[in-house]
Amino acid sequence: MNRFHILTLFPEMVMDGLNTSIIGRAIEAGLLEINAVNIRDYSTNKHMKVDDYPYGGGAGLVMQPEPVYRAYKDLEKDMKKKPRVVYLTPQGTTFHQEMAKELAKEEELVFLCGHYEGIDERVLEEIVTDYVSIGDYVLTGGELPAMVMIDSISRLVPGVLHNDDSAGDESFENGLLEYPQYTRPPVFLDKEVPEVLLSGHHENIRKWRHEQSVKRTKERRPDLWEAYEKEMKEKDGGK
Ligand code: SAM
Repeated sequence: MNRFHILTLFPEMVMDGLNTSIIGRAIEAGLLEINAVNIRDYSTNKHMKVDDYPYGGGAGLVMQPEPVYRAYKDLEKDMKKKPRVVYLTPQGTTFHQEMAKELAKEEELVFLCGHYEGIDERVLEEIVTDYVSIGDYVLTGGELPAMVMIDSISRLVPGVLHNDDSAGDESFENGLLEYPQYTRPPVFLDKEVPEVLLSGHHENIRKWRHEQSVKRTKERRPDLWEAYEKEMKEKDGGK
């Protein structure tokens, strides 16, 4: 069982977003648990305020440290060990598949979602273990990034995908993008499904798919292709 705790000002957003399809089924099956904690519940202000103006001036509001700290401490007290706490921020390391694999090994993970101009630095210094971005652009809050991360981590948890093999062939798993996929009908807008896929010849299908993966990776992600070629050369002993 993997447990994801999300510290957020908008718990309904993450709960509604994650409780569907494959992830929803995995929650129902008891393979995953999602616990969204409303940071606002930990405000001691009579108007339940959680933000204030930035010291030093400038636009926007900053989330105050105390409610975030209290919300985190309340979670931590019931955990066996100090969890990894991921702060979603455009200033973090860019999320990738290897990171998803590594995080899938953790039984409990805490995701901290910022809003407005972000969160007071002092509480981040105190509780955050990982600063993660989902790309070089700025969103209004950390909820969508947390959902992106939880979705990709969850599908690596054994049993979440019905056929565990289907994570194995996927893009990035072997350093390449996945080959193109086809299903019925055999002809669509005069385009036929590649003949080899109808041949039943497993070795030829495997070769064709590998060639397509290579072609696609070279065209769409030359950076990945370069890294793949380098790794293959190293495996070959630099020949
Ligand atoms: N002032 C911050 C800066 O310039 O780095 C941006 C704050 S952003 C408007 C509000 C919140 O959205 C952040 O605290 C973070 O939690 C989340 N966020 C925005 N873009 C993100 C991204 N690319 N990856 C992860 N989280 C992001």
